[in-house]
Amino acid sequence: MKGYGSMKRIGVLGSTGSIGTQTLDIVRNNRDLQVKALAAGSNVSKLEEQIREFKPELAVMWDQLAAQELKIKIADTNTKVLCGMEGLLELAVYPEMDVLVTAVVGMIGIKPTIAAIEAGKTIALANKETLVTAGHIIMPLAEKRKVAILPVDSEHSAIFQSMHGENRERVSKILLTASGGPFRGKKREELLDITVEDALKHPNWSMGRKITVDSSTLVNKGLEVIEAKWLFGVEPEDIQVVVHPQSIIHSMVEYVDGGIMAQLGMPDMKLPIQYALFYPDRRPMEGKRVDFFKLGSISFERPDTDTFRGLAMAYEAIAVGGSMPTVFNAANEKAVALFLEKKIKFLEIYDLIQGAMENHKVIQSPSVEEILEAEAEAYEYIGNR
Ligand code: NDP
Ligand code: MG
Repeated sequence: MKGYGSMKRIGVLGSTGSIGTQTLDIVRNNRDLQVKALAAGSNVSKLEEQIREFKPELAVMWDQLAAQELKIKIADTNTKVLCGMEGLLELAVYPEMDVLVTAVVGMIGIKPTIAAIEAGKTIALANKETLVTAGHIIMPLAEKRKVAILPVDSEHSAIFQSMHGENRERVSKILLTASGGPFRGKKREELLDITVEDALKHPNWSMGRKITVDSSTLVNKGLEVIEAKWLFGVEPEDIQVVVHPQSIIHSMVEYVDGGIMAQLGMPDMKLPIQYALFYPDRRPMEGKRVDFFKLGSISFERPDTDTFRGLAMAYEAIAVGGSMPTVFNAANEKAVALFLEKKIKFLEIYDLIQGAMENHKVIQSPSVEEILEAEAEAYEYIGNR
């Protein structure tokens, strides 16, 4: 069953988060999407609410105690409850599901994504850590299994849309746009006393806490460069980051004849999520539209990679390759968590990432186990510093 009006059965890994809840908003507006399975970390009340509304057959809670609590709370429903990695893996291969939306945060997404690809599920991929750390495993596997990996990250969706119907061999470069975050234009001295509250104020996008901090350090843009390299098979030197503070152009692709294709729209994650769910179709969506007269002008700048070292470090990590992007990502995760707990200062995030990268002995083409070991090593390095 395909096409407008036919049923598409989805599972959402990370349904209680920012991307997860927006995915469910889209389900609410499209009666031909059916939720078969939902998973979250430990938010029992939110998952219970979602189970009562969407009536999935399977619900997974990472945390075992939370799963037990959920089981009792929804004993009156027909939803089966599982927990831990075993549960996530069962969700990933759930037979009655066509598309898996990977909206968890962190490397926990790697194994379920691999299992889902093995089982032939279409992947709507938001969880960028999966490609950053295991792109060399995921992309060849998806090709082998003839499974589509549809990007949800807004920049990658824009690039994907700008490549639609084009010969990918004629791409000369990717222009990945960045808002520049809340501290754009500031110099190092001005960043010394940045608070958590300052970093969580993103000028254009409303997102989860971790990724909002990553936007302010430009680490998010660095992760996106690595993600784009894997998704589109483009060398990092052919991916140029362009700061565009209005966030109207979501990214662009330049071709060998100098022509540039771009995707524009309001900064709202629902569009890229919906595009991935219905690709290659488009569905109507309510919401504000770009008003060019109101906008007046848009502007562009070169990123300040001396101040916002996150981007430069990402290019370094990808140049070294192997397990280094994992260490870049894991060290950042841990450092951002410490910053959010107010245990370190904003600029120390960079120092911790750099330290972890310098400390790491690279493994070329790491296996999933080696990726997870590199992650643990980076966590330990930062924990013991
Ligand atoms: P959030 O922090 O808002 O949500 C994370 C989700 O993952 C929650 O549902 C959380 O459950 C769940 N989760 C956490 N740990 C586990 C676990 N061990 N097992 C199962 N579920 C778990 O993140 P975002 O939605 O912001 O981001 C999700 C991913 O999408 C990230 O990789 C991010 O980089 C990417 N992304 C996000 C964008 C955005 O606009 N937010 C834009 C582009 C990409 P619980 O609530 O129970 O903790
Ligand atoms: Mg993005």
